Amino acid sequence: MCSILGLFSNSDVAPTIVSSLKKMEYRGYDSVGVAIKNESAIQTKKGVGKVNAVNDQLQMDKIGGHVGIGHTRWATHGGVTAENAHPHMCNTDSIGVVHNGIIENYVELREELERNHNIIFKSSTDTEVIPNLLQIFYEKSHDVKRAIMDTVQKLKGHYAFLALFKSGELVGVRNHEPLIVGVSDNDLVLTSDVVGLPENISSVIYLDNNQFVIIKNNQYKIYNFEGHAAQFAIKTIPKSYQNVSKGSYDHFTIKEIFEQPTTILAAGEGDDNNLEKIVEFIRDSDFVYVTGSGTSYHISVIAKYLFSRFAGKKVEHVMASEMKYSSRYIIPNSTMFAISQSGESADILEAVSIGKKKNAQILSMINSRNSSLARESIFTVGLNCGPEIGVAATKSYTSQMAILYKIADKLCDNCLAIDFNTISDAYSKILSDTSKIKELAKNIKDISNLFVIGRGVHYPNAKEGALKIKEITYVHAEGIAGGELKHGPLALMDSSTYVIVINPFDDSYVDNISSIHEIKSREAKIIGISNKYDPSYDYWIEIPTIREELYPLLEIIPLQLIAYYLAIERGIDPDYPKNLAKSVTVK
Ligand code: GLU
Repeated sequence: MCSILGLFSNSDVAPTIVSSLKKMEYRGYDSVGVAIKNESAIQTKKGVGKVNAVNDQLQMDKIGGHVGIGHTRWATHGGVTAENAHPHMCNTDSIGVVHNGIIENYVELREELERNHNIIFKSSTDTEVIPNLLQIFYEKSHDVKRAIMDTVQKLKGHYAFLALFKSGELVGVRNHEPLIVGVSDNDLVLTSDVVGLPENISSVIYLDNNQFVIIKNNQYKIYNFEGHAAQFAIKTIPKSYQNVSKGSYDHFTIKEIFEQPTTILAAGEGDDNNLEKIVEFIRDSDFVYVTGSGTSYHISVIAKYLFSRFAGKKVEHVMASEMKYSSRYIIPNSTMFAISQSGESADILEAVSIGKKKNAQILSMINSRNSSLARESIFTVGLNCGPEIGVAATKSYTSQMAILYKIADKLCDNCLAIDFNTISDAYSKILSDTSKIKELAKNIKDISNLFVIGRGVHYPNAKEGALKIKEITYVHAEGIAGGELKHGPLALMDSSTYVIVINPFDDSYVDNISSIHEIKSREAKIIGISNKYDPSYDYWIEIPTIREELYPLLEIIPLQLIAYYLAIERGIDPDYPKNLAKSVTVK
């Protein structure tokens, strides 16, 4: 969700805070703000809009001071207004707070603070109770550490927050939302995301849940919520996470789509041992649950097709957010394979905690190897696709799928004998000429509905393609299993309708051609994604011919490209789709 950043330095911090917030903006971008401490006071500037626009208007980066905090918001409580933008100050203006997550009991805390302490609230957020609680407790003890310990006792919910005290302390508190301490000789940084680290900092400490850090004068101390000094390890961040840029591309989304010939080869690399262990667990378990949200859920559905077809495993896919409603039916001592790009999504963490209560063995596949989900898992395999900044998942999806294929191949004693170089070459071929897709996007830019059909293992890709289109073009799109058309969706078909058919030449081909004729009888237009031409296609998006079982890895690339170029035609910035943000850490 949103991004939070705190920085202590020997020089002015505001320019670095603003540029780090810009890098992390994919986590939330409805409003932005900073608070910087100078000799006498904490100065705050905040406004509605994206980082550059608000900075142009308010010159946030020009505030002087060597310690400060910043935030980009993804509103959960309270409208998108300047008053609700973070940082929030306490009533005496002596403590400022930025916050990621939700304070579930904020209504009762607000009432208590109003009633007993005459606090006047200036925003309608859940966040504003935090600086006021801190201030009330600090006034009692004049001890920052004590004030934090007392405040967290009062808060319910999942949160991470940073607090800046007029007395100079910078504090970071973690409770089920990510928080990282970056350390270097001159600077100390607190951030919700490694992508936000200033370029000179590559050594980090991942705070655990129920820990906090107090920074004062270039010294840091880490405690648990009981106030005891905490153990920690310093790790090094790979360079790819520190220099994230669009390069020569217009958007991160298209850059990441074009990275796939490389990322598909890197999927799971370096994690051979963990991959073997995951295979062993899946092979030995009677029942496997695969779970994820959004794009990662579509991968869970593909897992069911692959593991049952190639390894005869009993697999059930469960949407992470639905796990709690299925918990009664989870077979004890089974295996749960959790799939996530960030490893921080609240839904997946909840699903895993439900699995743990049923003694499920937790395995996972994640891009962020130091995430909360990794810590909850006995074995984790990394996607290894580098930072994914586009809100719509692209390269992480194909990396997840590649790992599923690797697992399926091992489960069936190498029956698939996959050469990923062939896939990588096929990606390069599709990406080398996007002219047809661009032309298609131009022709269909004014549509309001788009359907994507696929059968069997291609059905989850139809859902994923439709999700991409919804996310970044705002066109209503539906992924449908081909056979289901006649059970309802055909009622929506007429001459203004376009249907994308995932139609590789495999065992789904003949049935798809029948569906195409049913659709064409209603005068709708067909966009065929296939290695084989058929005269019924109004548009043919050709994909290379490869081994039949591997088409799911391929057919998703044209769908990603259609979504991207359609977004461009419709004048939408695909990197920042409205109402969405990367890594949804709230329920
Ligand atoms: N709940 C807070 C708000 O709505 C923080 C949201 C966020 O994580 O950006 O302001």
